[in-house]
Amino acid sequence: MSIPETPQEQVQHLSKKLQQSIQSRKQLEDDYRRDSERYSEFVNQLCLALNGVDSDLDTIIHQLRSQIQQNASAAILDPLIEKLSDAIADYNIRFQQQTRQTTDTISQTLAKLTPSTRQAEREFASIATAFEKPTTALMHYLPLVNRLLNLSHQCAVNSSTAKTETVPVENYQAQLFDLLSEVEFSGNSAEALQQVKTALQKPQSLDTLMGISLKVMRLIFTSINEERKSAQSFLQQLNASLESVNNILGTTVSTSGYFAEQRSKLNKQLTVGVSDISDCVHGASELFELKENVGSRLEQLGATLEQHILLQNQERENFTKNSTELEVKLRETEAEVERYKRELAQQKFRSLQDSLTKLPNRSAFEERLNMEFSRWQNGQTPLTIAIVDVDFFKDINDSFGHIAGDKTLQVIAGTLNKALKNDGFVCRYGGEEFAIIFCLDENQVKEKMELAREKVANIPFKFKTDDIRITVSAGVASFNNNSDTTVSVFERADKALYRAKESGRNNVKLASGG
Ligand code: GH3
Ligand code: MG
Ligand code: MG
Repeated sequence: MSIPETPQEQVQHLSKKLQQSIQSRKQLEDDYRRDSERYSEFVNQLCLALNGVDSDLDTIIHQLRSQIQQNASAAILDPLIEKLSDAIADYNIRFQQQTRQTTDTISQTLAKLTPSTRQAEREFASIATAFEKPTTALMHYLPLVNRLLNLSHQCAVNSSTAKTETVPVENYQAQLFDLLSEVEFSGNSAEALQQVKTALQKPQSLDTLMGISLKVMRLIFTSINEERKSAQSFLQQLNASLESVNNILGTTVSTSGYFAEQRSKLNKQLTVGVSDISDCVHGASELFELKENVGSRLEQLGATLEQHILLQNQERENFTKNSTELEVKLRETEAEVERYKRELAQQKFRSLQDSLTKLPNRSAFEERLNMEFSRWQNGQTPLTIAIVDVDFFKDINDSFGHIAGDKTLQVIAGTLNKALKNDGFVCRYGGEEFAIIFCLDENQVKEKMELAREKVANIPFKFKTDDIRITVSAGVASFNNNSDTTVSVFERADKALYRAKESGRNNVKLASGG
């Protein structure tokens, strides 16, 4: 490029440089905007991932998300992320306090036990030491452990008092069996649990039953400890990731402050330079003098612009470095959150309890039915199932909303369970359908089901100002001949339910025709 000669050429040259400078500034700003959008997106994902873990965390997450919706800058999100990080640490502490209380209760129960044999004594001692601090999803097994402990205690007393005034062995066996339908594990523990469940299908001695109780307790403690470790390491890693994100953001915010200051200094110099030139042009009477004065000022102006461009290049490099680091950290955190979510989802999947009604769910029903079916095949007991479906339930949702519908389901589930739990195994099969397993014959079940149906029909539901009666229909089928399978009998019960609906609802029909 030729060196500009006249002031006009020099001004043209400068104006070109200014244009370049403005463009590269715009590019830099676009990059910032893109980066901050990406960051907001990440925080949004993080919030979604953590949502519902804890109510205090939820409050901060809510604040974060509303800031993101308003396109808040990193400078505003930064302290909120810090707050979230602290809240996670708090959650961990609270969680530990809670578990300590539960541990104490368990220890007290353990202390009250009087094991009948030295072997049992050793087992209890080993459980007491194995049991450190339980955690999250498996926490709901703790009351169950307490029940198991009490059951074992009765077993112990039973065998040491030479079986006088005691409940029969079959009763313990049945109770143990019931307890185990609420437990489900993965991996090695699942196999061990399955063996225990299979053993319980045959009559067992008191000693064996006590051994089984101990084994299940040990399985529960092992799983609880594994889960605790996984949850704690997740929270620690998440905290560490959040801290590094915070540090990088801190650097970005402070360096961008430095660059802004430098830029404003240079801008001031440019403004002063331009106004100087303008003064020179206005005040000059000789062309030579003008050329002289303007020339030297233009040189200064050129140098300032060069500095301006240099500064922008530095700023760009800095920005790229920070944003790459930030991105790596964000990806790591995201991957960690995903992993934890997958684990939690798996645990949910393994659960045998329905979260809305707290009844055993469909998997629990199927597992229990398979076990009762093999018992029935051994000719021990009659076996009958009932399927219950709420009448016109869709109308409840349509008229009063899904939340009212959910509450209604909870009340109906509670009523059915209360009415039938002494005679059958009551489950939520899915939607507004319940399935019950009875070790009774068809006619006995019909009688029980009629009573349960009546109880539901008498619940005084109140929606807003309306008093509403809700009814259920049921189909009942028994296992009768050798060709019967769990599938064929379930289908027969379903057909009977269909007939109950056809004949006006709010009634119970037997597959055998009654
Ligand atoms: P009927 O059985 O008497 O023939 O009529 P219905 O209206 O009960 O039959 P349908 O099977 O068509 O409707 C069942 C409704 O139950 C549809 C579905 O929206 C609702 N439902 C299923 N599960 C749930 C749930 O968990 N909560 C709520 N609120 N509604 C549910
Ligand atoms: Mg239905
Ligand atoms: Mg229905």
